Amino acid sequence: MSARVHALVLLSVAISCIALLLSACRSGPGAAPEPTHEAAPQASSRAASAPPSSTSAAPKAASPEPTPPPTPASSPALGKIYLQQFGDPLPDQDLAFTLRSIAYYFPNPVVVLPVRELPQDAYYPPRSRYRAEKILDKMAGETPADAQVVVALTTVDISTTKGEYEDWGILGLATVSGRECVISRFRAARGAKNAEHTRQRLAKVVVHEIGHTLGLPHCPEYGCLMEDGKGTVLTTDHELDFCPQCRKTVGEKLLPSNGPLPWDPPAHLPMVAVP
Ligand SMILES: [Zn+2]
Ligand SMILES: [Zn+2]
Repeated sequence: MSARVHALVLLSVAISCIALLLSACRSGPGAAPEPTHEAAPQASSRAASAPPSSTSAAPKAASPEPTPPPTPASSPALGKIYLQQFGDPLPDQDLAFTLRSIAYYFPNPVVVLPVRELPQDAYYPPRSRYRAEKILDKMAGETPADAQVVVALTTVDISTTKGEYEDWGILGLATVSGRECVISRFRAARGAKNAEHTRQRLAKVVVHEIGHTLGLPHCPEYGCLMEDGKGTVLTTDHELDFCPQCRKTVGEKLLPSNGPLPWDPPAHLPMVAVP
């Protein structure tokens, strides 16, 4: 009996944890929308006084042409990361940079699927954009069995419901420990200095959303790629790398740091990779 009570308690705790995580990052009926990397015009202010990241240790130079990612120590059981573009494709350089960034962090084989049309039932006429959760729902029924995650990429604006906001523009949406995520380039380009800036923001959001699908919730560490975007694309501009705690949480689902990060480090942070 005692073992059974224990099991029930553990089950109850596990369910509570899952519910908490889901409410942190996935929108839907009764759940808070994923606030990270939202970039609505009503962007909330960020904590400017947050301390710099302590994740770094050794200087390293940014390179416009990062060294090739380490060869993944692929195991047959490692699920694939599928990239699925919806609608007009990304610029070639953006897609290439996104692939390099994924390969820098994740050991999984990556497969780029043919571009497909946006699901019309995801279209939201009042704002002429697409509902992110509907894109995810559409994908969920088609995710290949061998997928770790299917990453949807699109150039159109996407949105979801956030609290009192029925339709809130976002950069990306994922379910914690889910198998699908969607990222839009649209808001990454807003206020960007140039195409490279947009590209780096986009890739950071892709890595962030894949991080959610690996089970990572939002992280309070300033500069961590899993930071909550708090409604502004500007968050991505000070993000650098996964912090040690996030790396510890996912373990071998992330590759060890190896070589320069894919993106330019924020000017105020040391240029480092976490060993
Ligand atoms: Zn997030
Ligand atoms: Zn972190």
